[in-house]
Amino acid sequence: MKVGVLALQGAFARHVQMLGDLGVSGTEVRTADELSDVDALVLPGGESTTMSMLLDSSGLRDEVADRISGGMPVLGTCAGMILLAAHVADGRPDQRSFAAIDIDVRRNGYGRQVDSFESDLDVTDLDEPFHGVFIRAPVVDRVGDGVEVLATVDGRPVLCSQGSVVVASFHPEMAGDGRIHGRFLDMAFDA
Ligand code: GLN
Repeated sequence: MKVGVLALQGAFARHVQMLGDLGVSGTEVRTADELSDVDALVLPGGESTTMSMLLDSSGLRDEVADRISGGMPVLGTCAGMILLAAHVADGRPDQRSFAAIDIDVRRNGYGRQVDSFESDLDVTDLDEPFHGVFIRAPVVDRVGDGVEVLATVDGRPVLCSQGSVVVASFHPEMAGDGRIHGRFLDMAFDA
């Protein structure tokens, strides 16, 4: 099984490393050819406005959309969550998302003063808390009926899934803890 990490911009390198640590082949994806070679895809953190532009200029936008509608498992973290959301508030007017999961997000929604923070998260089905690193993270303002909320901070969802889509508003690749990725891989390949 090969897992791609969208590598147009942002924090992709640590995802690749984390996947390798978990014993799967993680590979950087920048072209349609590279995308066609993977069975699942990670959309990393970074800057969703820039990633959205690069998805258009690279020609990858439609290819990624097609694969997602074809059922390819996808994990979106922080900016990646924004790119997968149904609706994005406080984005750039030309920013587009894949609407792969029925949630509404607000970019940088935790505000300037606390735009980075850390929090130990109680995650459904994990025995021990997961250390969540939040960096200018999006706030989830709405979740649809079909969405499962797997962790919250102050009552707000920060880890959600729907079908083969998993999104986190934090950076699970930065915690030195592979359990979120492991859970994604179990869902993607054991289902
Ligand atoms: N604030 C960024 C955005 O809007 C996301 C930050 C991140 O991915 N760490 O895209």
